[in-house]
Amino acid sequence: MIPKSHPRYESLMTREKIVEGVKKGITSTQGLIAQGRGEAFDYLLGEKTTPDALHAEKVAAAMLLLAKTPVISVNGNVAALVPEEIIGLSEAVNAPLEANLFYRTEDRVNKIIKHLHSLGAKNMRTKTDALIPGIEHERAKVDSSGIFSADVVLVPLEDGDRCKALVDMGKTVIAIDLNPLSRTAQCAQVTIVDNVVRAIPNMTRFADELGRSDKDELEKLIKGFDNRKNLAKAIDDIFKHLASCK
Ligand code: ATP
Repeated sequence: MIPKSHPRYESLMTREKIVEGVKKGITSTQGLIAQGRGEAFDYLLGEKTTPDALHAEKVAAAMLLLAKTPVISVNGNVAALVPEEIIGLSEAVNAPLEANLFYRTEDRVNKIIKHLHSLGAKNMRTKTDALIPGIEHERAKVDSSGIFSADVVLVPLEDGDRCKALVDMGKTVIAIDLNPLSRTAQCAQVTIVDNVVRAIPNMTRFADELGRSDKDELEKLIKGFDNRKNLAKAIDDIFKHLASCK
């Protein structure tokens, strides 16, 4: 039991959720390594949402609201860390959830679907009747009415190859990745350099707010966004935080 007074309570609780996810068969053991890498970058960012990340979250929410067929991809880490929150976002932007795993097994996919259903997820794509071109068979499996035909895909924690394959299919890809240097971060059209545990609730809040705006306003917000600049700012944010620690 981690006491609430522990200075790194939040971070340690997040770690516990991932360990629980592995025990339940939702998260892969490789997911533990991804979590460790994420924690290291979160430390460098000061374990907070930067104003630049917050802006990317707002743009991403606008993109999901304007999309015709948006889909939210869920992997084992997301299912363990933010299951209720990702269902909330799915409802706020009216985008189905699809379990989409790098280390794919049918058993783990089914456990994630069951887990999300048990928490109230209603809008899900669960078929595996299509393949993303250009990647190895098991990792390419998707739902023809989900990720395969989506115009905008949110991929919290994706690997670089699959992110590129989705972009190559002509999709707009929004990634959440604490590492601004990862291949995923570099290839997505919108990269949110923030922890999923903070990013998803922020996006839902923005979706609720922006849902009341007109289309022109959302389009203006999206047009003004430049992911190259956004990633450069994320690297600056790390520098600034490190400089403040000296
Ligand atoms: P790529 O193939 O894109 O270069 P990678 O090989 O580094 O990525 P993985 O090892 O699969 O990718 O790690 C997943 C990525 O997710 C890492 O960049 C890590 O920083 C990030 N990450 C891990 N946990 C979180 C989290 N809770 N929130 C946001 N990002 C995270």
